[in-house]
Amino acid sequence: MQTKYIFVTGGVSSSLGKGIISASLAKLLQARGFSVTIQKFDPYINVDPGTLNPYEHGECYVTDDGAETDLDLGHYERFLNVPTSQANNVTTGRIYQTVINKERAGDYLGKTVQVVPHITDEIKRRFCLLGETEEYEIIISEIGGTVGDIESLPYVEAMRQMRWELGAVDCMVIHLTYIPYLSAAKELKTKPTQHSVKVLLSSGVQPDILVCRTEHPLSLSIRKKLALFCNVELSSVIEAIDADTIYDVPLLMLKEKLDKTVLKKFKLKSKQDPELTQWKTFLGKLKNPLREVNIGLVGKYNELQDAYKSIYESFIHAGAVNECKVHVKPIHSEQITDENVYDVLKNLDGILVAPGFGERGINGKIIAIQYVREHNIPFFGICLGMQCAVVEFAQNVLDIDDAASTEVDEHTPHPVIDIMEEQKNITQLGGTMRLGSYKCELKKRSHAYKAYQNTSINERHRHRYEFNDYYEKQLAEKGMIATGVNPKSGLVEIVEIKDHPWFVGVQFHPELKSTVENPHPLFVHFIKAAMENS
Ligand code: GLN
Repeated sequence: MQTKYIFVTGGVSSSLGKGIISASLAKLLQARGFSVTIQKFDPYINVDPGTLNPYEHGECYVTDDGAETDLDLGHYERFLNVPTSQANNVTTGRIYQTVINKERAGDYLGKTVQVVPHITDEIKRRFCLLGETEEYEIIISEIGGTVGDIESLPYVEAMRQMRWELGAVDCMVIHLTYIPYLSAAKELKTKPTQHSVKVLLSSGVQPDILVCRTEHPLSLSIRKKLALFCNVELSSVIEAIDADTIYDVPLLMLKEKLDKTVLKKFKLKSKQDPELTQWKTFLGKLKNPLREVNIGLVGKYNELQDAYKSIYESFIHAGAVNECKVHVKPIHSEQITDENVYDVLKNLDGILVAPGFGERGINGKIIAIQYVREHNIPFFGICLGMQCAVVEFAQNVLDIDDAASTEVDEHTPHPVIDIMEEQKNITQLGGTMRLGSYKCELKKRSHAYKAYQNTSINERHRHRYEFNDYYEKQLAEKGMIATGVNPKSGLVEIVEIKDHPWFVGVQFHPELKSTVENPHPLFVHFIKAAMENS
């Protein structure tokens, strides 16, 4: 079967949820028996989002193959339950890098290298890359930004060419737009959408389907107006009404027949009735919790929920399996002191200390960890959170006052967390970390094993510093045990405290692998421990 291509563009405003709409459509097509993947094209110049501050662009999502990507790939994986890879996220920076490298190598044979055709050809090559593997029947490409932006233009042109080359049966453009409600006039307004479609038309692209974000249902007359003035069939005007949770969106799209409309245009027959049993069970549990727990999320990027997107989503998945509503209270680590720690952490049933970089906020994290360790409150430390747990234990239990991570104190005499030998000479910041999936062997007598029910696991990493195994024996003698180790390098990946109800620190990022259909076992068990503590 010829691979079918769907492009999703955005109009009128940013933040309309192109990622969620793309993931929901993909989910429905997958539920109808098709193999689908989604890719994201970001119009910024950074080669990847790895060097972006989380305040700029939210969390950096890491794939199995070690790509540092846009957080929308997290939604794709959480919805589809299929891993993505480097090929699923391309930025303008990467496109230009490829073209410029080719130019330097003389591959253009003296030609003038231009946006059209060289940049647009490279974009088209990337559009089709996953199609060449024949693994996917349908490929959805989300174009970042809003149409009309200067930087989106090469993508829109490349998309126009693809649509022209492949035709309507193999390629389509879905335009996600916004229908504002004017409360004074008590009316939904279609004009911004009409204008946004005109912007697309001025680049030669006629959208095939309109998906309309709205706070109020679209009446038949509004739908007819949109269809008439935007040149689409009435059945191609899809309402995307605000939902209680992003996980409702696939079912809302099913009701609006987005998937059927797509299949009809592609002249494809559904392979089966949509198989969404597991999805619906999850939603049922999510919406009818029997219990609730309060979890403190100690981090330093708390102003922006997107900075910890995957952690928040993992709590939703883990809460649902446990039929428990998880209230997450963001706690700014910089604001925790010895004096206020009791007040800040009281009434919480569990504490997660988040990943992060740099020195800021470290002290507060260490104070919080000491408190939960001494008060038997379930603790889950991720990456920097695990490293802080080791530092705290070395300082307060082994009595090594100046124990530290060399990330915070380069000249500490007791580097319990240290940079890896092979990383020492790297000064360039982009893409120089331990990234991607690594194996880890678990000790049978551990909370980790209890959760995974397996001695061999694979988890994703994104960090420079490591547990310094010089201190492993001393820590173990006092009760902090390395329960997960990389079988090849011997690097410690998990630490636990023996005489504590649930104290688990992991060097990897479990939050990146939690999906609706496979909630992450460590999150599930952390919530269980918090429920027991509540
Ligand atoms: N800053 C720490 C390191 O580089 C932890 C990174 C993280 O939490 N992702 O090792």
